[in-house]
Amino acid sequence: MRNHNRISIIGAGHVGATCAYALILKGVARELVLLDQHKNIAMGEAMDLQHAAALSSPVEVWSGTYEDAARSQIVIISAGVSSKPGESRLDLLYRNAQVIREIILRLKERGFDGIVLMTTNPVDILSKIAWEESGLSSIKVIGSGIVLDTARLRSGLSRRLKVEPRSIHSYIIGEHGDSEIASWSSSIVAGVPLTSFYENAKESDYNEILQEVRRAAPNIIKCKGYTSYAIASSCARICEAILRDEHTVMPVSTLLDGQYGLKDVYLSVPCVVGQNGIEKIIEVPLDEHERSGLHASAEVLKNAYEKLVQSEKAVST
Ligand code: NAD
Repeated sequence: MRNHNRISIIGAGHVGATCAYALILKGVARELVLLDQHKNIAMGEAMDLQHAAALSSPVEVWSGTYEDAARSQIVIISAGVSSKPGESRLDLLYRNAQVIREIILRLKERGFDGIVLMTTNPVDILSKIAWEESGLSSIKVIGSGIVLDTARLRSGLSRRLKVEPRSIHSYIIGEHGDSEIASWSSSIVAGVPLTSFYENAKESDYNEILQEVRRAAPNIIKCKGYTSYAIASSCARICEAILRDEHTVMPVSTLLDGQYGLKDVYLSVPCVVGQNGIEKIIEVPLDEHERSGLHASAEVLKNAYEKLVQSEKAVST
């Protein structure tokens, strides 16, 4: 039996533990279960978080088992290796694919039929692998995608426009990685196209903002070794939209089935998110340049996925 107020987090490192903390501060779930391959890490984080919960919201937190996780409404996966300075997200693929397959198999064996929220990088390809292994409908296997990158974009625009980020409707789309693009042509502020609102902006200004978004994670990793708060806030926001059945529009990573002229690839585009997971994939109008950028991003992901599949076949023969 699934517990509709339970979220489990597999991988209680920087991302997983901070996600748990963000969920507690927001009061999203009633039960939080932490798992890690190192039980002590999950136990230590769970104890610390229980005390934080006592000061924040009525959440029961414990370090649990796969049986506990399989009865969750949402399982957040944040297990695996993270990028070291100089490594791209795609460099992590081979090491993390195996981790994700193992975790999904263990959930599947225990009858899990809730929603998977993938954060482990490269998040788009690992979401696809998780979906394939799980046997779940693709609407239930979601990548945290570029909710984070879109927050970074809006933060950069906000500083320049002197308008708070939530009033700016602009999205990053594509890979959560170096090939992501901004959908500038459909961005609006208070109903005004961004291209008019951002007076006197040159192409170089838009390029600079996009580069800031793309370089955000490597720059943070260079300074503190990992990223945590913004991804945790993104995950807590996605979980909130699911558990409260909000029908909120968010740029999460999902399986495209013909939208934008793309198929069989997980990448981020704005989607309506509610209690069933992805309720609708939205096709944002794109100009020619943006459309070809999105297709190029999809190509990067398809190629990396194909290479992984080929190398796994080669190893098993
Ligand atoms: P971390 O090293 O701090 O934590 C990873 C945890 O996973 C560790 O505690 C480790 O013991 C655990 N783990 C590894 N294999 C496991 C398994 N098979 N079962 C259970 N637990 C296992 O790393 P982190 O900084 O928390 O990053 C985790 C992942 O999240 C990385 O892949 C990183 O690139 C990714 N990440 C994604 C985003 C995003 O926007 N999607 C942002 C930041 C980090």
